[in-house]
Amino acid sequence: MSNIIMHVDVNSAFLSWTAAYEQQMGLERDIREVASVIGGNEENRHGIVLAKSMKAKKYGIKTGNSLMEARLMCPNLLVVPPNYQVYVRASKSLYELLNTFSPDIEVFSIDECFIRFMDLNKEKAIELAYSIKEQIKQVFGYTVNIGISTNKLLAKMAGDFEKPDKCHTCFPEEIKEKMWILPVENLFMVGRRTQPKLNKLGIYTIGDLANADFNLISTLLKSHGRLIYAYANGHDASTFKPPTPIKSVGNSSTLKFNVEDIETAHVIILSLVEMTAWRLREAKMMCSVVSISIKDSSFGYISRQKKLQYFTDCTQDIYKNICSLFDKVWDKNPIRQLGVSVSDLDEAKFQQLSIFKDRNSLNNEKLDKVIDKIREKYGDAAIIRGVFANSDLEPLLGGYPDDEYPGMSSIL
Ligand SMILES: [Mg+2]
Repeated sequence: MSNIIMHVDVNSAFLSWTAAYEQQMGLERDIREVASVIGGNEENRHGIVLAKSMKAKKYGIKTGNSLMEARLMCPNLLVVPPNYQVYVRASKSLYELLNTFSPDIEVFSIDECFIRFMDLNKEKAIELAYSIKEQIKQVFGYTVNIGISTNKLLAKMAGDFEKPDKCHTCFPEEIKEKMWILPVENLFMVGRRTQPKLNKLGIYTIGDLANADFNLISTLLKSHGRLIYAYANGHDASTFKPPTPIKSVGNSSTLKFNVEDIETAHVIILSLVEMTAWRLREAKMMCSVVSISIKDSSFGYISRQKKLQYFTDCTQDIYKNICSLFDKVWDKNPIRQLGVSVSDLDEAKFQQLSIFKDRNSLNNEKLDKVIDKIREKYGDAAIIRGVFANSDLEPLLGGYPDDEYPGMSSIL
């Protein structure tokens, strides 16, 4: 008997959730049955593939391809615009269901989490994983992968084995047979930039890395090298972090193009604030601190916050305050990344104000306008990166190239 960790990952989350939502809404089509992708506006060149159906995958379409590339690979491709409100709701419902199996859930991203079970034997754990997978399918109408092991790293690796709709184990005694044979780039935290460095050393599989000279890896890749070396050997020293009360809500975006004028920056801030404020209201919270962060094209970084004299959850209000912060601190260098966040949250303030019924309808009205404006101008892909960063998802720490892990953090 030991502690078991499971990693639950929604297969093609954005696509599955959209499909399940459309079925609920009574639409005839099932976008999973055709070559389809979730992606931003096709007319502008910034739209990228955020998720793909199995049929689209057969055409060679990958997440992160531009919509133009995807269209070339499959002329009949169905492009469905993203709907973040559906995703946030779907994610919340999923985690609520998973909570009925264990109170120990660590949310990793909008569609991935870890569940911890105390004193469960391996056979029972596998049985349970299958029943969780089936229940999700029955209740919500989409599939997940579940990885089962004794730590988060191994559970995540197992979850990424063959997809979709599968349960896999990767217990310590199975590392050699199941993990070491995989290409080194399949190891969690080995990204596009690390892979060629490892290949140059003759390291092509996870097993090669696990058996490489530790000192060499450590000297060459520093702390990141030591981390992936440990991961290759199945070691993960991180502790399990059960959910903590939300302390902040934020949203950031690495832009596909440099932003050089204030009007464009404001539009992007608006889109970021829109999702942030919406999430704040979903969490039934109000905030009294707003912040902006700006990364420019020469890696300069500015971050400022402002304490408000009152609590708010209003998009327009937060937007105005963040814009005034931005206008004060921006040094006119071309912008590569913008981030907004709100903190100093209070649940009670939300309850007090909820007697004003028109508050939400006002916000919703603005929401539609804003989202339309963004879609028209940039496509949703312009605002996809790093969404839903909150206190559960710590910001990426130094050493991990952040464009390799959009919206993820180095919490393992
Ligand atoms: Mg997923």
